[in-house]
Formats: sequence, C-alpha cells, structure tokens
Amino acid sequence: MARRQKIEHREARYTLWQESAACRGEDQNTFYGPDAPESTTDRNNREAAAKLVCETCSVKAECLRYSLARHETYGIWGGTTERERRGLTLDQVPAVTRRRVS
Ligand code: SF4
Repeated sequence: MARRQKIEHREARYTLWQESAACRGEDQNTFYGPDAPESTTDRNNREAAAKLVCETCSVKAECLRYSLARHETYGIWGGTTERERRGLTLDQVPAVTRRRVS
C-alpha cells in the first residue's frame, strides 16, 4: 500500500464515526455562527438548536474528542460550544469504546 493510500485509509478510519452523526443533512449554519456579527439572543438560540441535535447523537463523545484533538475553535462539536471547549481537555472526556457499525 502506497504511503498516500495509508494516510487516506487512516484518515477514513479516524472519521468513520461521522457516518453516524445526527447532524448529517442538518443545516450547518446551525452549528457554525455567521461571518457577520450575531446577536447574543440569535447565538443562544442557534446554539441551543444545535445542542438539541447533539443530544440525540450516538457519536457525541467521538465528536467531542475529535474536536479537542484537533483544537477546533469554531462551531458546535459534541454538544459543546467553542467557549465551553476552551477549558476542556481530552483527559476530561470519557474514552470511546469501539462499537460495531451496523
Ligand atoms: S455530537 Fe453534534 S456536532 Fe457532533 S456529530 Fe453529533 S450531532 Fe454532529
């Protein structure tokens, strides 16, 4: 297997959990704020709507761990806002147990 194929394979395995993301098909503007200024009320409403989706998500822990590992500073990941993730570390998030993909 060529080096590039190995890298692509590793990346595909690493992000396999995204296949089960509850936000697939959702409006991503709910999960990421606009480029223009957003009022506090609009931001709170948008974040609350995104978190409702995250609450139903079977890969919430994977998503949060992924965002922390990548130092994602923008958007809702794993049911957290960028502000909420600032004080979080990977050590504080339960490890993900492997599960079968159905
Ligand atoms: S936890 Fe939220 S942002 Fe992460 S994959 Fe699930 S629905 Fe999407």
